[in-house]
Amino acid sequence: MTDLIVIGGGLAGSEAAWQAAARGLRVQLFEMRPDVQTGAHQTHDLAELVCSNSLGSNLPDRASGLLKNEARRLGSMLLECAEAASLPAGGALAVDRERFARLVTERIENHPDIEIIREEVKEIPGSPAIVASGPLTSPTFSASIAALSGEEHLFFFDAIAPIVQADSINMEIAFRASRYGTGEQDEGDYINCPFTKEEYYTFVDALLHAERIELRSFEDAIKGGVKAGHFFEGCLPVEIIAGRGIDSLAFGPMRPVGLRDPRTGKRPYAVVQLRQDNLAGSLYNLVGFQTNLKFPEQRRVLRLIPGLENAEFVRYGQMHRNTFIASPKLLRPTLQHSTRDDLFFAGQITGVEGYMGNIATGLLAGLNAARLHHGEPPITLPQTTMLGALCHYVTHADLKDFQPMKANFGILPSLDLPSKIGKRERGQAYADRAFGDLELALSEVTEADAVEAHD
Ligand SMILES: Cc1cc2nc3c(=O)[nH]c(=O)nc-3n(C[C@H](O)[C@H](O)[C@H](O)COP(=O)(O)OP(=O)(O)OC[C@H]3O[C@@H](n4cnc5c(N)ncnc54)[C@H](O)[C@@H]3O)c2cc1C
Repeated sequence: MTDLIVIGGGLAGSEAAWQAAARGLRVQLFEMRPDVQTGAHQTHDLAELVCSNSLGSNLPDRASGLLKNEARRLGSMLLECAEAASLPAGGALAVDRERFARLVTERIENHPDIEIIREEVKEIPGSPAIVASGPLTSPTFSASIAALSGEEHLFFFDAIAPIVQADSINMEIAFRASRYGTGEQDEGDYINCPFTKEEYYTFVDALLHAERIELRSFEDAIKGGVKAGHFFEGCLPVEIIAGRGIDSLAFGPMRPVGLRDPRTGKRPYAVVQLRQDNLAGSLYNLVGFQTNLKFPEQRRVLRLIPGLENAEFVRYGQMHRNTFIASPKLLRPTLQHSTRDDLFFAGQITGVEGYMGNIATGLLAGLNAARLHHGEPPITLPQTTMLGALCHYVTHADLKDFQPMKANFGILPSLDLPSKIGKRERGQAYADRAFGDLELALSEVTEADAVEAHD
């Protein structure tokens, strides 16, 4: 007898299986490796880290550190293994990847209530299940997810433009306007970074000579322009467009038509437009700026954009294979499917980005699947916590521009703090609030359980 099926023995699936089993459920964990490979994984271990061996900052006043502290508080098994396999890495939690994956695999293998089944799942089960098959979900299973959700609600590539913090944009140079003054806001919906001809040529030259991330064979489609995003429009990285001719960007995503720089009264030679990315208006994305440059190169080259010389990037651009569902339409913040209470999604397939976010959503899905099994209501975490904010973001973002999101302070409801306060103090204030609210939420859940048990 099985109480719960978990599909995918990666970061989210391993954590989810463990959390559910720890709460008394009999779990079957399906992992298709080693028989079916993803193209990125190299071993048959569970919870293999496919690229970097860092789980991000461990500092309590950083977004990723806060997420770790929340996962610690909620009893993450994978985080425990990561700590046992940690390597010296300053303020970050870096691990010996083989040791980490071995530890997780052994813990799961030795759990009496978890059965590991090395088999590709091809259909969404009709019984309680957690889908945690990751960014490289097998094609047959992807088709089954698409059949449940509608073809247009499953995406296969990330074509992500970078996002910057609004308060790091130099508004002495950048200006607000919409093309031909057609925006909804009086002062214009977009922030525009204007280029002179000389600035534009310097920028294009830097873009063309910057180092790029190497594409893997399963990502070859990117070179020719991929189908990505809700409207399946062709997307090309800006460096590829730039390579087609020195002025191709100025006639493409950087075209200045309909815009006048209020400081010169003239049309700039080219423009980078930034569009508001979150309701609070604290984040802006660079419109049409999908890029595959290495992250430090993005920071260097994109800071050549007039007005972005001190830009703080909360997310870099990326072009890679990434299967994820349209969570704003299909998921609830409890990680339950919108039409099936007993079907959960966790990990990168929900649109939550990054190792730690994937582990944490696995934790919440496992915990909530167990609560549902025991007749308790699934938990929605407060939006002021980092995990609650991630779940809220992916389930409430604008579907038209929906792209994966990693932990960052910009997705938390803003705190009214003095403007002079430093970055670390600011982070600590958000972390303190998150922790207080998490404790409160957990105490309420425990109280409710106690009342139910009493009744
Ligand atoms: C190439 C690449 C590099 C990345 N690098 C980083 C990085 O450096 N840092 C970072 O924070 N994030 C990175 N990510 C993003 C993300 O954090 C990782 O992919 C992370 O492993 C996702 O966790 P997950 O549990 O959702 O999926 P995974 O860890 O990929 O686990 C999913 C598991 O499901 C299995 N599976 C798939 N389909 C089926 C099926 N039909 N039946 C049974 N099993 C199935 C897979 O074999 C896999 O083991 C990267 C992603 C990719 C694709």
